[in-house]
Order: sequence, then structure tokens, then C-alpha cells
Amino acid sequence: MKLNIGVIKGDGIGPEIVTEAMKVLDRTGEVYGHEMHYTQLLMGGASIDVHGVPLTDETVQLARSSDAVLMGSIGGDAKTSPWYQLEPSRRPEAGLLRIRKELNLFANLRPAVLYEELKGACPLKEEITQGGFDMMIMRELTGGLYFGARATEEKDGVLTAWDTLTYNEQEIRRIAKRGFDIAMKRRKKVTSVDKANVLDSSRLWRKVVEEVAADYPEVILEHMLVDNCAMQLVKDPKQFDVILTENMFGDILSDEASMVTGSIGMLASASLNESRFGLYEPSGGSAPDIAGKGIANPIATILSAAMMLRFSFDLDREADAIEQAVAQVLKEGYRTIDIMSEGKTQIGTAKMGDLICGYIR
Ligand code: NAD
Repeated sequence: MKLNIGVIKGDGIGPEIVTEAMKVLDRTGEVYGHEMHYTQLLMGGASIDVHGVPLTDETVQLARSSDAVLMGSIGGDAKTSPWYQLEPSRRPEAGLLRIRKELNLFANLRPAVLYEELKGACPLKEEITQGGFDMMIMRELTGGLYFGARATEEKDGVLTAWDTLTYNEQEIRRIAKRGFDIAMKRRKKVTSVDKANVLDSSRLWRKVVEEVAADYPEVILEHMLVDNCAMQLVKDPKQFDVILTENMFGDILSDEASMVTGSIGMLASASLNESRFGLYEPSGGSAPDIAGKGIANPIATILSAAMMLRFSFDLDREADAIEQAVAQVLKEGYRTIDIMSEGKTQIGTAKMGDLICGYIR
């Protein structure tokens, strides 16, 4: 198979971590007989330096014509970088917001996996995390409260602010279908999270999710109120497989879930549209404090590349091989600085990429 991948290395540690993910993709292609074809794209500070803007129309077109985009991270140190002297719409982050919108990336996936080997980094009690956990938070990304009408106005001399939370059934249906499709590739359980005891938008959410569930008889569906879900994530995270939820609830719950796994350097993510296209990136930022030192953890980006193979190319076997290689390297005791603990072997970014490649068979 020929894979046309747009690559945004970005800023800070972006180029270092993406280089390792490409190394792992190339190795996977070699072993499983696929041809990787990369198109380098500029976004964020790297694009400002060359074009004066964080994202050009040409880059959007090139991204659109790729099968998927693999990204590092964008942005710099807000206190020292000249990019932050520019008006907000011309700063690095504006490029990311625009590309998500232009490509209609409505489904945000953030796996939260606690590896048995890294459970020391988890702030929860050992009896809760025994055996690790593996869940996928699926957040609606282009609707809801963050995209509704809002205003701050004065009424009878009193300042009043309001925001609106709107979802239509099509927006709910498309994310729900994605959630069930993904559950079919996992442990076949969906926890749909809402606030249906209070909100009309949540009651519609629940109704549409139930309609979609009827087409997936193998998947177990449960509904959970968002406040209960926030508690269950720290009380019993092992119960979750796919958590399906709207934009704001997902924003908060995905951060909570990622915190219980330990390091930011381990967290992959994907944002998908209605076709097979997706933008795959680590959850962390460009880490300007460690950029260029060769010590950043490339695992989140490598796991994002595995998600790309699984969700944009349907290459489950290849994605499994990468995930198993990562687990194996951790098991052997190799760690980058961010996940280092006593008795383990500290290695740099490139060595981590090399070792993971070595386990792809
Ligand atoms: P950050 O995630 O870049 O860094 C937070 C801390 O985590 C730092 O100490 C950093 O060294 C560490 N860290 C992050 N990724 C790591 C990795 N792979 N390996 C080892 N350590 C890692 O967050 P920040 O400092 O708040 O933001 C820095 C820049 O990144 C800002 O310009 C911000 O806007 C941008 N940012 C970009 C994205 C994105 O590209 N999607 C996301 C978040 C932040």
C-alpha cells in the first residue's frame, strides 16, 4: 500500500519527535511492505518565519490532498519568542485552529493508557491501577458551547455574559458513529457522557446515541452523567473503554484522564473528519525548554503515528506492532528523562526511536 502522509514538524521539539515517528513508520513500511510518501508542510512559527503567516492556503490544500497528516507541535516561548509580538490571529496557534476548522476535524480521540511499567507515575492508589488501564476519550470538537453565540452586555446597569450550547442531531450522529466504529476495534463498550438530567442538548445527545447504538448490537452502551464520570475516572478507570462525549465535557475529562496516566510525553491524539482523513499529533506542546537537546520523549508522536495507521489506513496489524514495540522497550527498562525512575536506563530521543524500530517485526 502507498501512504501519502503530510508531515508538519512544527516548532520546538516538533522536528525531533516527528523524525523518530517517521523512522518508525519507515521501519513498519519495510517490514509489512508499504511505501511511505511524505510531503513536508510548514505550520506555526516555522511558517511565520518563511511566509509571515502561521498557515498558508497552499499548505491547507496540500494537507487536504494527503491521506493523513502527522504533526509534531507548534508554538514557542510566549515570553521570549518574536512570534508572540504579532497579533493573535497571526501567532503560531492560529494555524492549528484554522487547519482543524478547514479540514472539518470534528472527532478528537485521546487514548489514556497506563502501562504496567509506568504505573509509578500514576497519582492513583496502586490497588486501583493494578494491571494498568486503557481507555479512549472521544470528544466532539467543532460544536457545543465553544462554538455557540455568546456576548457580554449590560442590562439595567448590570454586566451580564451568556454563551449558548447547541447541538443538532447530525452533529451528534456523526460523532456517535465514529465512537461505535472505534469501540468495534477495541473492547466493544461505549460510555456516553452527558448531563441529561438538566440539559436539553444532553437529552438529544442521549436519544441520538441510542439510535446509533441500535446499529451496533455487539457494542455495550452505557450512559453516565458527567459529574459521575469525573469521579469514576479516579475511582475505577479500568471500567472504561470508549468514552463518548460533547466538546466541553470532553475537554475537561480528557485532561483528567491524561493526568492519571503520568507523563505528557506518552499521550497520543487524533482529530478525524467524516472520511478517513485525520490529523495525528502528541497531546503535549512544543516544549521550548528542552528543544534541540535531544532528550524529548518521542513516544506520544510514535503512538500518534500508530493511530494514523489504524484509523486512516485500516492497518491494525501494523499499528499493533508499533504499540507492542513501545511496550517492549518500556518493559526492558529504557526511559527518556520525563519518565525516568530509579534503576532504569536513561536514553535520548533518537535512541528511543531506534530501539522501538528494533522491536517492529
Ligand atoms: P508543553 O507541553 O510544551 O510543555 C510542558 C512541560 O512538559 C515542559 O516542561 C516540557 O518540557 C514537558 N514536555 C512536553 N512534551 C514533552 C516530551 N515529548 N518529552 C519530554 N517532556 C515534554 O506546554 P507549554 O510549555 O505550556 O507550551 C509550550 C508551547 O507549546 C506554547 O507555545 C504552546 O502554545 C504550545 N502548545 C502547542 C500545542 C500543539 O501544538 N498542539 C499544544 C499545547 C501547547
